[in-house]
Amino acid sequence: MSLVTTFATILKTYEYSETSKILRLLTRDHGLCSVIAKGARRPKSRFGGLLEPFTDGIATFYAKEGRELHTLSAFELHRERQALGRELARYAAAGLLTEIALRFAPAAPDAELFDQLGRGLDRLLAESGDVETAMLEEAWKLIVHLGFAPSTERCSLCGRQDEAAEPTHFDLMGGGIVCERCQPQAEKSSLRELSRAARAELVTLVRGGRGDGRPLESARAQRDLLRDFVAYHLADHRPLNSFRFLEERLG
Ligand SMILES: [Zn+2]
Repeated sequence: MSLVTTFATILKTYEYSETSKILRLLTRDHGLCSVIAKGARRPKSRFGGLLEPFTDGIATFYAKEGRELHTLSAFELHRERQALGRELARYAAAGLLTEIALRFAPAAPDAELFDQLGRGLDRLLAESGDVETAMLEEAWKLIVHLGFAPSTERCSLCGRQDEAAEPTHFDLMGGGIVCERCQPQAEKSSLRELSRAARAELVTLVRGGRGDGRPLESARAQRDLLRDFVAYHLADHRPLNSFRFLEERLG
């Protein structure tokens, strides 16, 4: 048994028994970890009310070799982001970022992923412009960091630099746009139509976004494309739960 102390972001919490909580953490030094916070649901818990999703802190836990669930001994608050819960759009957007981390973070520690998630959550908290645009930009940053950047400027089948003026489709299976010539080779169910504006905005999103909070012209198309792309490449063709929530709440 070894004592671990690391920066951590709480991605998700589950009630466990009458008094305890299980937390899914993204840690800076140990990747994804599950810990049990014994007594966390008691009114006078030593953890206070700190153990909520989107909160950053320094977690100390006993890691037992071969065990999946570790015992949290302390959580020193670094940054709470409870204000995200006061607005549905911000809450849903933060839920998407944490779900991406929860589902796709590699087993090995990834400090840059940890930092990127923190920056994304901070931005959602502070964004004074369009929250959905901020969500799309931050979600793509995570996906690109995870190594799944789609090809948005060259045809993903023949590699030809596609003229921005041509109509384009996005091929989920190929992982990028396809030119008009290659389009008949692609599987129909895997193709999504991209308007010229949507294609230009996708190029910008995958490059890191504009970051100015202006709404996207193709916001709805971008959300659908992101949902389908993530489902296809990362999640066994099943959309993430966050998208269901986003669709129910944001339309
Ligand atoms: Zn092509």
